[in-house]
Amino acid sequence: MRTIQHWINGASTRGGSERTGPVWNPATGEQQAEVVLAATEDVDAAVRAAATAFESWSQTSLSRRTKILFAFRELINDRIDELAEIISDEHGKVLSDAAGEAQRGLEVVEFACGIPHLLKGEYSDQVSTNVDAFSYREPLGVCAGITPFNFPIMVPMWMYPVAIACGNTFLLKPSERDPSVSERVAELWAEAGLPDGVFNVVHGDKVAVDALLDHPDVAAVSFVGSTPIAKYIHQRASEHGKRVQALGGAKNHAIVLPDADLDFASDHLVAAAFGSAGERCMAISATVAVGSAGDALNEILYDKGSAVRVGPGRDPASEMGPVVTKQAQERILGYIDSGEQQGAKITVDGRGLVVDGYENGFFVGPTVIDHVTTDMDVYRDEIFGPVLSVLRSDTVDEAIDLINANPYGNGTAIFTNSGEAARRFHRGVNIGMIGINVPVPVPMAFYSFGGWKDSLFGDTHVHGPEGVSFYTRGKVITSRWPHVDHTSGASYDMPTAE
Ligand code: NAD
Repeated sequence: MRTIQHWINGASTRGGSERTGPVWNPATGEQQAEVVLAATEDVDAAVRAAATAFESWSQTSLSRRTKILFAFRELINDRIDELAEIISDEHGKVLSDAAGEAQRGLEVVEFACGIPHLLKGEYSDQVSTNVDAFSYREPLGVCAGITPFNFPIMVPMWMYPVAIACGNTFLLKPSERDPSVSERVAELWAEAGLPDGVFNVVHGDKVAVDALLDHPDVAAVSFVGSTPIAKYIHQRASEHGKRVQALGGAKNHAIVLPDADLDFASDHLVAAAFGSAGERCMAISATVAVGSAGDALNEILYDKGSAVRVGPGRDPASEMGPVVTKQAQERILGYIDSGEQQGAKITVDGRGLVVDGYENGFFVGPTVIDHVTTDMDVYRDEIFGPVLSVLRSDTVDEAIDLINANPYGNGTAIFTNSGEAARRFHRGVNIGMIGINVPVPVPMAFYSFGGWKDSLFGDTHVHGPEGVSFYTRGKVITSRWPHVDHTSGASYDMPTAE
């Protein structure tokens, strides 16, 4: 069986741990590889390599860093199809979706290629007589990224291109469910000319994560995953004095007004709910139909939800693949049962779906549940599967209140033809990322990505300008070059401008 290893200091290594975890093929339900699960000592070796590399990488010129980033950009761009296959085989998502993920990650690399401009400081001439002031930002040191299974290349790319461009070194702890693509990315960094130790990959579980959170030489931690773990990471890393940004789970609502084009809205709703089998932090999992939109929308959702083609990710005919593991499949099916038991109406039922030739795959069919209310488990919990709940409200304001009462605050969308309603909506919701007739409003790389409330712990969003702030700290220099005829002597008062 293939063993997926760490990448430390420019080389693939097994490390000292005997522990391994299974890596499944979600389409067949078979184990296809094992991944080594790091011991504390393996994490320590990687942090030491990254700390040593920081000494020279942080002093490497912007011009040299940028050349390596451009080379890395070209290598990724040329290999999107290969990377998509690696992702699809372990995650289960369809190839076109996996390629799309790689493309969105690549955009962050392209953003980071502009680092000389992004790191330009400020200069104020003559702030006091013969005194100038200027500022610039320096890298932090060793930065760690701990990432979820659902975007095995894109989410890590929200982090390391920016961190490395800023002069930091990086240690990635990817999800143990789909670890292979990170190994390939490490090889491509090396091919691009990145010095050994600047980008490292350590595979593992809680043992590896805790070792990173506690390590005195890790300066900053970026995390993306579920809310309970995000909270834990934020607290433990903060206690150790680290800078931390921890992005959590989501329950993203789309509201549909009666004036919306329901055909257009429902096309986008099914894509946003069932794309990647609903395993996206920006998936729409709750639709709020306002007023008379409800029944008409439900009919169209029935037609379109029932028509989604489910199959293995590698089959170009598939629109939706399996979910990631057997446990995920069982959890999602349990939620559909609970919705039924708690009085909702399952209008499109994904239970019992069997894909020909892939009988043991972790498949759940697209599911639409109507007449969901806010006290039901299907609404309260993040299901993270192909399940779309439909709720009803009488007015836009009632829908906004409903969204604001939800503890999550990642993304939301409105479908309407009214500019006035759209404006009221985006100004009124307590949510970080908002779409107007755009169901999955993931910001472009030159903006920053992040939610509010239980979807983010920490002060900064990822990538874009906030990513540059997160991975650097500022210095302000006040400078005077005294004249040789200086005679004023020492003053013990608070310095004020002269
Ligand atoms: P997860 O929280 O189970 O795992 C995320 C990472 O944390 C993995 O690397 C995992 O190894 C590690 N981890 C898991 N349990 C741990 C523990 N007890 N202690 C320390 N580390 C631990 O998340 P997942 O199932 O891989 O991913 C799905 C979740 O991620 C969903 O909740 C989804 O909404 C969220 N997500 C959020 C965003 C966002 O931008 N807010 C983006 C993608 C995914």
